Amino acid sequence: MEPQRAGSGFAALIMRGTNAMVALLVPLLLVLAAGCAGGAATPAAPSAKPYAFVNGRWFDGEQFQPDTWYSVQGRLTRQLPPGPVETVDLSGLYMVPPFGEAHNHNVEGPWNVQEVARRYLQDGVFYVKNPNDVRDFALQIRHAVNVPTSLDAIFAHAGLTGRGGHPVALYEDVLRVARYEPVVGPIERGWFENRSYVVVDTEAEVESKWPVIMSGRPDFLKLYLVHSEDDGGSVEVRPGHRRQGLHPALVPGIVARAHAAGLQVTAHVETAADFRHAVRAGVDELAHVPGWLLQGPEDAEHARLTEEDARLAAAQKVRVVTTSVAGQAMPSLGGHHQHGQQAGHGPGPEAKHHSSPADPVSHVLRDNLLLLQRAGVSLLIGSDHAETSLAEVQHLRSLRLFDDRTLLKMWCESTPAAIFPGRRIGRFEEGYEASFVALAGNPLEDFEQVRAIRRRFKQGVPLDGALIQDAAWSAADRKSR
Ligand SMILES: [Zn+2]
Repeated sequence: MEPQRAGSGFAALIMRGTNAMVALLVPLLLVLAAGCAGGAATPAAPSAKPYAFVNGRWFDGEQFQPDTWYSVQGRLTRQLPPGPVETVDLSGLYMVPPFGEAHNHNVEGPWNVQEVARRYLQDGVFYVKNPNDVRDFALQIRHAVNVPTSLDAIFAHAGLTGRGGHPVALYEDVLRVARYEPVVGPIERGWFENRSYVVVDTEAEVESKWPVIMSGRPDFLKLYLVHSEDDGGSVEVRPGHRRQGLHPALVPGIVARAHAAGLQVTAHVETAADFRHAVRAGVDELAHVPGWLLQGPEDAEHARLTEEDARLAAAQKVRVVTTSVAGQAMPSLGGHHQHGQQAGHGPGPEAKHHSSPADPVSHVLRDNLLLLQRAGVSLLIGSDHAETSLAEVQHLRSLRLFDDRTLLKMWCESTPAAIFPGRRIGRFEEGYEASFVALAGNPLEDFEQVRAIRRRFKQGVPLDGALIQDAAWSAADRKSR
């Protein structure tokens, strides 16, 4: 294919994507009526309609307490507002703050954003962090998210890696053909560079590419460390060596730049050496727990964390995302490392549980999770490859590492607060956002009640009916086809 034609062809496809987006947004905006647009950093101006929530039991971080709350301008208050108030009888339901998903790539483009948003809202997950996306596609959906009637999402856009490192081949060889071409048409190989990944091997390259990195106004920065114990002394990623990410020496400088720009940094890690380099370099969050991806007994030993690792991460307040289900989506033991081998980021038909809890190899993930938890490291719920973070919570529960209250608090308190640190979410307190999911039963007595969602309110707006089942969405679905 001749480059110029491919280029203009793609531009046309992007335009077509934009038009589809407009078609999608028109009915959505009609539903919104008040037209509450807002970015990730500034929560939308919510519904002005006041509500009184009566007869509910509210999670206070320990237990459920009977209480009455009002929603005024989308915020919780105990003060009865003047004027008419619509009463919502919660008749004994159990209110928890909406859940979070600290690691997934599925909020990604106009072709499926409404379906993905609906799925998350259905599971009570209102806050999603996408630590690597195709910048151009994410920019097209910015206004379909971060409004009261949709989910709230933040994006890293292109992650930083070394030449030939992860996720270059994933985007250029796998996702390009299997995931993106079917929805946007032909894409030239190489198109993803600076859109989904940025290659930096030297300080000079970090300097020269910084404007490109900042150009899509990412909400945070993502960088890749992969087997950094095996850097062979070389700056470049070399055949025969297992390092498939940034040279670790570059990381402190990148973190300093990001922090100076007001951006937090999330690091992809696979081994204990990656973990150490990232923590020492001052990153804010690790996108995985070492041990999540193991391809043999040797990997298990490279993944094992020490007490000192956990202590340092806790002291530096580094958050760690669990992603315990992500390894299941990977090819079986011994296969070549291809993050997201399948067409989707989700498990393919041939996905194998190569690290079942009974498997000695998988003990390292469990041991690391427990070690981090005991050291006081903040653990966040993120699935990386599942449809929503519900699957991650259920899998963690099956590992029997944490009690149900601890798991619930990770999911509805720590994870949302970590995704949107500037917002008053994750608790029911005066002035906090009037967002909650109402469960049929007490999840501390029967954890499966987290799936029995009866009502959803987001920033003072009821989501049930209008968004979950309603015609507005199916109309948008039809138009976008
Ligand atoms: Zn990921």
